Amino acid sequence: MTTLDFGPVVIDRHYTPQDAATQPYPLLPLTVPPGTRGLTVTQEVTPDSATVDLGLADAAGVRGWSGGARRAFTVTPTDATPGYQPGALRAGIAVLLGLYHIPPEGADVRVTVHFHPEGSLRWYRGDLHAHTWHSDAHGRPATLAAAARDRGLDFVAVADHNTVTHHAHLHDPILLPAQEVTTYRGHFVAHGRAPLLEFRLTTPAQVQEVLRRAAKDRLLTVLAHPSPTCPSCDWAWGFEDQFDAFEVWNGPWLTLNWIAREKWLTLLDRGHRVPPVGGSDRHQAAGWPDPTPPELQVGSPTTWIRAASAYGGDLYAGILAGRTCVSEQPAGPLIDLSSHGGQLHYDVSGPPGGTFTVYAGRDVLFECPFEGPLRGEVPVRAAAYHRAEVTIPTPPEHVALARGRWPDHVTDAGAARSVRALSGVVWP
Ligand SMILES: [Zn+2]
Repeated sequence: MTTLDFGPVVIDRHYTPQDAATQPYPLLPLTVPPGTRGLTVTQEVTPDSATVDLGLADAAGVRGWSGGARRAFTVTPTDATPGYQPGALRAGIAVLLGLYHIPPEGADVRVTVHFHPEGSLRWYRGDLHAHTWHSDAHGRPATLAAAARDRGLDFVAVADHNTVTHHAHLHDPILLPAQEVTTYRGHFVAHGRAPLLEFRLTTPAQVQEVLRRAAKDRLLTVLAHPSPTCPSCDWAWGFEDQFDAFEVWNGPWLTLNWIAREKWLTLLDRGHRVPPVGGSDRHQAAGWPDPTPPELQVGSPTTWIRAASAYGGDLYAGILAGRTCVSEQPAGPLIDLSSHGGQLHYDVSGPPGGTFTVYAGRDVLFECPFEGPLRGEVPVRAAAYHRAEVTIPTPPEHVALARGRWPDHVTDAGAARSVRALSGVVWP
């Protein structure tokens, strides 16, 4: 799967000091393919001593400007890089350059334009929870972006703890702005670009106030890793039903994720419509390439989102609409579950292995081995919700490993089976 069908279009230009003197603001007109809803522009300039500013214009005038501060920007109908206006792409759209400093030998500028196709929703894969050296990891945002791309991801949310300093450094369009509000009684991730949320929370009233603030800033909030993997990791504030989504799966499945899943299922049983998401919680290493085993890297687990594009607002809309799936790795398995006309449709793809189970509430509705691509339908039952999983029996040595680390929390029932993929929820 590729993120962008349309393009990319590459435009190469050479500018001399004379060009800068006669027309310092050249326009590179774009031919927008029919059915385009947004675009991403990236720019490379050589030599380093040249400064060429970046912007966007259309028939109505300047549409956005980032000067020399950014080398990439995105504009979609619902979202845009700061400094750019979101909305439809209008007539006369053109990349706007500023020839601020052109050295005597001239400057080469390469502009790459990715057009985002409109219309049908599709699955994008990514990671909604990762860290850089802006908090307690060693890798830079650019290293995390390289790692995510290497794993075939379409997006990765940078959710550094109690800071937003990284937001000014997310130049690669694969990186999404987020922050992990990390309190001494649990964490949540707020997705989107906004000022720092208060994390020095000591009373439930303050927690409620910060959740109100996040809603006002139009941030998408995700309750993070609600399980006792560390003394302050488990969420102990209440208000579990007030988050937009639930991180059912954080890191390897055996890091007590069945406890988080049980809390999530309890919310579903009570009638709350909370979509499941996952996150590797990868604390990116400084070096590249990354020698870490794949199961501990960014993208393990992978969150799939059916969305109009792989950019912020569209992904958040996909999550809010419940179009998610979480799988052990970027290759899948992907469970696409939907219902029409009293039938529940399933489409399971990716590396085979294990058992595919469809649930109506807590009851097993259907079960079969996952030995290759699966496609079919079963009649829906009068249940509050339907969902599905691919699971395998947990190897005994893995159970022993988890038991050694969390002797008080690893139960036979909890650790008996490991999840390879977990579908989104289908509500009646
Ligand atoms: Zn955390």
